[in-house]
Amino acid sequence: MKSMTDNSPASPERRRFLGAATVAAGVTLAPGVMLVEVAHGRPEDQAASGAVRWGMLVDATKCASGCDECVSACSTENGWTPVAESKHPKQAPQWIRKLELQDPLTQQETNLPMLCQHCAEPPCVDVCPTGASFKRADGIVLVNRHTCIGCRYCMMACPYKARSLVHEPLNDTQKPDVPRGVGCVEACTFCVQKVDRGDGTTACVEACTKAGHNALVFGDMNDPESEISKRLRELPTKQVRADLNLNVGVRYHGI
Ligand code: SF4
Ligand code: SF4
Repeated sequence: MKSMTDNSPASPERRRFLGAATVAAGVTLAPGVMLVEVAHGRPEDQAASGAVRWGMLVDATKCASGCDECVSACSTENGWTPVAESKHPKQAPQWIRKLELQDPLTQQETNLPMLCQHCAEPPCVDVCPTGASFKRADGIVLVNRHTCIGCRYCMMACPYKARSLVHEPLNDTQKPDVPRGVGCVEACTFCVQKVDRGDGTTACVEACTKAGHNALVFGDMNDPESEISKRLRELPTKQVRADLNLNVGVRYHGI
């Protein structure tokens, strides 16, 4: 069984693609002379840093029943068609799903979004025969659509049902900074295009915060001063299927 190391680089094609689409900020040096630089983002030729571990905290006690703002925001940001709008709902991609659970004994309800857990030891990477599934040094697990052959081994290996195969032809749904490919497998990328341009957050977190629920926190789990690290120190949290020892990057409070 093959295993990828932590410093697996993002594909040069994707990096160039993302770099070209990155939001740039202009600084005026003199009349008519502009220095264009990427606002807080990594230079295109600089690899993701292993000093960072991007992660997400889901506070299920704040996740609202009936709300799916995070799902809508992910769909809009990344250009995939939501299940409800798909002509083929059973084949529709689901980068993030809203789960509403009820304890049959107590009737207590729990709401939570489920997404790729960005495992530190990702089974999807282990089983991929082409190396298309890989983990960046900063913990983000991605699929290189140029080398994915659509075998779906990773979908079977993922314990979280986090991956989808792109069945539908991609016509006008493609976003310039989120390349997708029919016949390829895809999943939540922690909005890598936003991370790499220095936004420091994801579309789902922005939407949840804007809706006033504040159930999601994204950040660097290796930075003791980050908001997510502080919250992880304060709140008891769980890893879903902690028994698998995958050291996931998504932690849940209140489940
Ligand atoms: S949650 Fe699934 S797709 Fe995501 S890294 Fe883990 S095994 Fe891979
Ligand atoms: S579907 Fe693509 S990413 Fe998944 S295991 Fe096969 S080649 Fe790798």
